[in-house]
Amino acid sequence: MLHLSDIKKYDRCDKYYWFSKQIAVPYFPFATCNYNIYDLTKQYFMFQDVFEGQRGDDPAKALEAMKDHMVLMNARFAYKTLRVTVPFLVLEEKPTLILPYNACFPKEHEAQKIADMCFVLNKNGIEIAEILIVHLNADYVRQGELDVRACLAVSEYLYNDKNKAHHKAIDLAQEHYRELDDVIEVMENLPDLSQVQKKRSSACTNHFKCDFFYHCFPNDHHDTSILNLVQSQKKYELLDRGITDMAMVIDDVIEGNRYQYAQIMAAKKRGLFVDKMALHTWMKKLVYPLTYLDFEWETYVYPPYDGMKPFDVLVFQYSMHIQKERQGKCFHEQFLSKGDCRRAFIEDLIAKIPKTGSIVVFNAVGAEALRLQQLAVQFPEYEEQLRQIWTRMVDLSVPFSSGLVYDPRMAGEYNLKKLLSLFSDLSYENLEIAQGLEAVRRWRELEQGSEESQKIEEALYAYCGMDTYSMKVLIDFLYSQLTPA
Ligand code: SF4
Repeated sequence: MLHLSDIKKYDRCDKYYWFSKQIAVPYFPFATCNYNIYDLTKQYFMFQDVFEGQRGDDPAKALEAMKDHMVLMNARFAYKTLRVTVPFLVLEEKPTLILPYNACFPKEHEAQKIADMCFVLNKNGIEIAEILIVHLNADYVRQGELDVRACLAVSEYLYNDKNKAHHKAIDLAQEHYRELDDVIEVMENLPDLSQVQKKRSSACTNHFKCDFFYHCFPNDHHDTSILNLVQSQKKYELLDRGITDMAMVIDDVIEGNRYQYAQIMAAKKRGLFVDKMALHTWMKKLVYPLTYLDFEWETYVYPPYDGMKPFDVLVFQYSMHIQKERQGKCFHEQFLSKGDCRRAFIEDLIAKIPKTGSIVVFNAVGAEALRLQQLAVQFPEYEEQLRQIWTRMVDLSVPFSSGLVYDPRMAGEYNLKKLLSLFSDLSYENLEIAQGLEAVRRWRELEQGSEESQKIEEALYAYCGMDTYSMKVLIDFLYSQLTPA
């Protein structure tokens, strides 16, 4: 039995599809989906007398239901071995497909999947004349009960990468329409591809690294591999020319990118590359006392509390290490709570954070600074004090992400945990929580009233505290690079 998600995988790469059938990949939702979009869509359109399909339904059931229902939800249809679940099918004068998305701007790349769904419906004698996209309204601000008609938006369009609506879903579906007989035939008879050697391509790393990347290329990721050259249009061409390692690159292939330059220089000298002048300029931004600050948060698809918008986050924890002077001792402050703790979080943070000095954050712009800006919109009475905090933030990722400091062992990555393991003897290995998604998972358990609440809280304190202490260690490391040996 094939599903549309299988076809999508096969389109990306036949071996990717083949692996997906052999190896289960665990899925962890980055956001909590706190409402059911199918129920909300039903409410939005005030649908009555809806046929609701169930998992495992015989496709004949949906065809039968069409005789006495105008609206079908989650109806199963099939063509040969391909099964599709159709979110909403409205059988009025013009059969209409209604597709709900837990997203603010469902993207045009959905078009192929929609076209393939139309193909199966077509083979069942249903010609879709209209497609409506139901999505979240990015501007909706919750006040009181969730207002379904304000929270959801209905559009005939899908959105491009800049969230602009240029093309109707029905037009895109027609453009992408294809006969799937051959694809089904090939997919049904796919041989064992495990030993088939594939050439690495953009399909392996586009948007996200393929789940089976290291199955396909187990020896391909040595630290200075040419394929670890970041933001390079030329790396596959270089590989084809036999340039397998960054150390083999001649300078004229650098694409005007400082990070690439640092990568190549570090590979050639087989060790740490430091642009001391640029690093010195960056370090001059730091003003003591230094506050190393880190937040943990949960993302909600639907705003759970007043003043929040779709996909807003709830910051539930902070850790800060405060260092009054260089090489001085660090003091630690922390906060952790559950439920709607936004006001308590803001007040505790404002009360404890030093009023002067730099606030060192890792990836500040897209994370901690943004979180405070969102809280300032939700609680305008604290805007000035929060602004005082985010405007003092200095992003510690910058020296590592912009080529001021590069170690070949970074292999094109610069996350906090990796840097800590490279530039100190410390690591997250012995912590019960060792990465951000796990922190969110454990907090969800806490929120749901876990009996292990004390243990979870301790683990969360240890994890977030490690993040801020790691920043202090990295700042020490950067200073050491400016000090003459
Ligand atoms: S790593 Fe590339 S070749 Fe291998 S399965 Fe994934 S997409 Fe296909």
